[in-house]
Amino acid sequence: MSDKTLTCRDCGTSFVFTQSEQDFYAGKGFMNEPSRCPDCRNARKASGGGGGGGGGYSGGYARAPREMHKATCSSCGNEAEVPFVPRGDRPVYCSDCFSKQRDAGGGGGGGGSRRY
Ligand SMILES: [Zn+2]
Ligand SMILES: [Zn+2]
Repeated sequence: MSDKTLTCRDCGTSFVFTQSEQDFYAGKGFMNEPSRCPDCRNARKASGGGGGGGGGYSGGYARAPREMHKATCSSCGNEAEVPFVPRGDRPVYCSDCFSKQRDAGGGGGGGGSRRY
């Protein structure tokens, strides 16, 4: 047993199927060798396993989860969570009031008054 060089069926790149990966696959009970290079495998995983094709290297960039900050709603006084650091110069609304604000503000029809 030793490292194997395989060819990716998507991009044609040669890649190494290392001994440890072979062990890993065997441990998982996978019978097949990987048919795609790690890049293409990751790309497929990232795209949710949808259709094939496309391609090119779009390196997977991990999207950091949005950090939420606790604040007090300027409208109803309930606890609100906002994706930015609340500062004194901006009103902070809970999600309820926020959607109400939006409805009232730029909503359908008539209302022309803009905030900001
Ligand atoms: Zn590939
Ligand atoms: Zn509120």
